[in-house]
This record gives sequence, C-alpha cells and structure tokens, in this order.
Amino acid sequence: MTSLGLQPSLTPPTLDLDALRRTVSSGATRDLDSRRGHLLALRDLVTQHEAELTEAVHADVGKPALEVRLTELSPVLREIDDLLRNLETWTAPRPVALPATHVPGSAHVQLQPKGVVLVIGPWNYPVQLVLSPLAGALAAGNTAVVKPSEQTPTVAALLARLMAQHLPADVVAVVTGGVTRTTELLEERFDHIFFTGSTRVGRIVMKAAAEHLTPVTLELGGKSPTFVDATVDLDIAARRIAWGKFTNAGQTCIAPDYVLVTKEAKEGLLASLKEAVIEFFGAYPQHSADLGRIINAAQHERLVALLESSGGEVVVGGGHDAADRNFLAPTVIADVPLDAGLMQEEIFGPILPVLTVADAAEAIAIIGSRERPLALYVFSEDDVTREAFESQTVSGGLAYGAALIHLTVPSLPFGGVGGSGMGSYLGRASIEELSHHRSVLSKPLRPDTLAVIYPPYPAWKRSAVRALMAPMRRSLVNAQVPATLIKGVKGAAQKLPRAMHRSR
Ligand code: NAD
Repeated sequence: MTSLGLQPSLTPPTLDLDALRRTVSSGATRDLDSRRGHLLALRDLVTQHEAELTEAVHADVGKPALEVRLTELSPVLREIDDLLRNLETWTAPRPVALPATHVPGSAHVQLQPKGVVLVIGPWNYPVQLVLSPLAGALAAGNTAVVKPSEQTPTVAALLARLMAQHLPADVVAVVTGGVTRTTELLEERFDHIFFTGSTRVGRIVMKAAAEHLTPVTLELGGKSPTFVDATVDLDIAARRIAWGKFTNAGQTCIAPDYVLVTKEAKEGLLASLKEAVIEFFGAYPQHSADLGRIINAAQHERLVALLESSGGEVVVGGGHDAADRNFLAPTVIADVPLDAGLMQEEIFGPILPVLTVADAAEAIAIIGSRERPLALYVFSEDDVTREAFESQTVSGGLAYGAALIHLTVPSLPFGGVGGSGMGSYLGRASIEELSHHRSVLSKPLRPDTLAVIYPPYPAWKRSAVRALMAPMRRSLVNAQVPATLIKGVKGAAQKLPRAMHRSR
C-alpha cells in the first residue's frame, strides 16, 4: 500500500472494446464540442490531482517534485491547451484545387477519427507519455485504451482510478498489467497503436499490429549524440549537457547519450562538466534531493556493469549503492573506446561517455555509421559546422546549443526515424498522425464532362483527350488553368450528346 492509499493492483480490469468502437461509429466524437469536453476532462484530471500524481511518480520513479511538475504535468497541460486552442483550425476540411480535366467540381481532405487507439506507455515519464498521446487521440475524435507501464504500478493504478472518475468508460479505458496483459491486448484489433518504449518491444508491437494491418506510431529510444567544439562557451555548454543528461537520472529517451568533443575543446569541456555536476548535485550526490534514482535493481546492475567495463577514465562520479534505492552518481567518463559496451547500447542512466574526435567531419562519420538517433545536439557557433550537421546527418530532432527542450516547442513535431521510431506527434502533428485523411471529391452530374472518356473512342475523342492532357501536364492546378480552356471543356461536354450520336 502506498501513502496514497492505493494498492498498486496489476489485476486486469475487464475491457469493453466494443463500447469504445460504438462510441466512434455512432459519430459522437465527430462533434468538436464533445472532443473539447474530453480534453477539458483530461485537463481537470491533471489539475485537480496534481499532488497525487506527483506523489505517485515519486513513489514509483523517485523523481523530485519539481521535476514531476516540469517534465510530466506542465507538458501535458501545455499540450491540452494547444490542442484546445487550435482544434477547429487543425481539424477543418482542407480544400484542394482540381485539375482542369475535373472541372467543374470541388475536392477536399477530410480528417476523420481513426477509431480506437491503443496507447502503450513506458515507465520513465509515466504520466506525460501516456496523457500527451491520449490528448492527441481524443482531439482527433478517437476513443482510446491506455496501457501504462507495469514498472510504475502506483501511477498505473492512480491513472485507472482517475480516468474512470473524469472520462466516460466508453471513451477511455485504462488497462493495467505486465507483458502477458499487453500481449493479450495486442491480439485485439485496434485502429492505431501508439507505442512509446524500447526498440526491442517496438518490434514486437509492430509485428502484432501487422496481423491486423493496424498503423503504428513507434516512439523508441537509442543513442542520441552530442557534438561540442571550441567555438562555444564551454561552461554554458557543459551545464546544458549535464542538465539534459542527468535529469531523471539519465532515464530520458532524448538525453544526450554520449559526447563527441574536438581535441581543442576536450579539457575545457571535461573541467566544466565536472563543475556543473558538483554545482547541481553537490560533492555528495547521494545526499542530493534533486537527483532521481534508477528504476530497478536489474537496470542498476546493467549500468554498473557498463560503468565498470567502460575502458575510460572517470572524470566525476562513479559511485553507486544498490541498497540506497539504486543510487548511481552522475558520472562523466573520458576517452571511452568506440567498441566499449557503453557505446553499443542505449545507456539510459546517468553515465556520460566523452569521446575525442579530430573535427566535425569525424563526428558526422561516427553518427552516420550508427542507427539514426532520436535527437542530435550540436554545440558549435560555426555556421559551416552547423550546416554540415544539418545536411549530412539524419535524426528525429536536431537542436543547436541546448538539450531536451526542442521537445517543448509546441509546433515542432516529435518523433524518431529508423531505429529511433516512426511517426511523430504533439500539437498539430498528433492530429495529423491520429486522424484518417479521407480524400473527398464532389462532381456535379450536369454538365456530364466525363462523357469524353466513356467508350466508344472515335478519333475526335482521342484528340480531345490529347488536347486536354497537354495543359494538364504543364500545370495541374486549377488556378493556373486558363479560363478559356475551362470554358472549352464545358462547351465540349455540352456538344457531346450530338457528337456521340454521330459516332454511333
Ligand atoms: P519497454 O519497451 O520495456 O516497455 C514499454 C511498454 O511496453 C510497457 O508498457 C511494457 O508493459 C510494454 N512491454 C514490455 N515488454 C513487452 C512485450 N514483450 N510485449 C508487449 N509489451 C511489452 O520500455 P521502458 O523500459 O518502459 O522504457 C524505456 C525505453 O523507452 C527506452 O528505450 C527509452 O529510450 C524509450 N522511450 C522512448 C521515448 C520516446 O518518446 N521516443 C520516450 C520514453 C522512453
């Protein structure tokens, strides 16, 4: 039992998927007011239970309260507000121009709810990473099943209780449980699966989705590189990197995973990183109330093994104590070889390897030889260097001079590429990702301009089609089609019945 009086129950509640499907097919969620109602209810869930949510995250992940506010609750509220503010514009039908051959008529793209969206969340930001995708799903007019991580049972139980209290059961259902329960869930047919977690489980999810041809968004992890050269203020760069890395004890999908620093900047950066760590967490970080903990003993053991086999030189940190809630000191290690364990897998903990490179070109070559990362951070004031990173690397996101915070810019879509995932979300990107884009054409029956393409095909029709296709090849947009041609098409259509009669 936690101090919230919650029994972290992993018993799967019964899930009425049909009820969720019926809500969408009844058209109830097409109405924007009903979507607004769901978003406001989700907003209330967060604002009215801020203390409980903070306590639950602290109980499961050991995050300081301010970090919960900054990295869990505020981003969700900002996302909901952004969706509410722009709902009408972002979901409005989008008219498209018709080619001359299709005039008269009109066409538009209609954004429709996909149906029932399954949201599967990880443990590291257990509130934000289920509620932000959920907000997008509701804004797009879907219903949803939410499956929080079993590694954060207090948060999962709390979300199940609060969701039932704030949102109708035929709009959002929360399912709690571990791998077995998720495996069962994945056997069901959903209309979209939004998964955040590891690359390994991402593959399992995508395979299961393929059985039903269900589209997926995969928000995965990986190794996000950071490049630093001597053109920047190394003190500020070090503080920004240290903050990005050691927030949530390094258990952040877009945390700088490793640093590639030029020879000229190396000593200065290492000294500044050491200073930043001591400034943030004190000389005895184990006593710091502002440092998170490693999620469980297995992860702690994995990280300690990586630390001990690093092959590099510890610049700061290195201490660990499994008995103290899996404490691991914020650690910077210099001169880690490229083939060390630390450089093979996503670290996902407070260990920062720093590798020396000759220049930006070498850093770009190292980055290009690996899986495409979720984020790439470049600390350089040199325009040529920045341009080289922009044009010669591919990553989910790219930030100059800062770590993590690109995720908090409302109009920047967030997502990975290649090994770091597929699809993107947040703000407008969520509406795009979680809606079906239906193409709609409306053509009046009179005049019957299509008669020119009906068989039989005498010579005059072949030349008429050739004449029509020529300007279409030059310009497909209605706006650029000369009015005389449009008139000509209409005129030809009116003459068609006579011409067709003659051709028989
Ligand atoms: P995980 O992949 O172990 O678990 C994620 C979810 O998948 C959980 O809900 C879990 O119950 C479920 N799951 C686990 N094993 C499963 C299986 N065999 N079959 C079906 N479902 C299964 O990830 P995690 O440890 O919770 O989170 C850490 C990982 O998530 C890291 O790799 C991190 O980089 C990544 N991550 C990515 C983002 C992002 O936005 N791209 C955000 C946070 C975390």
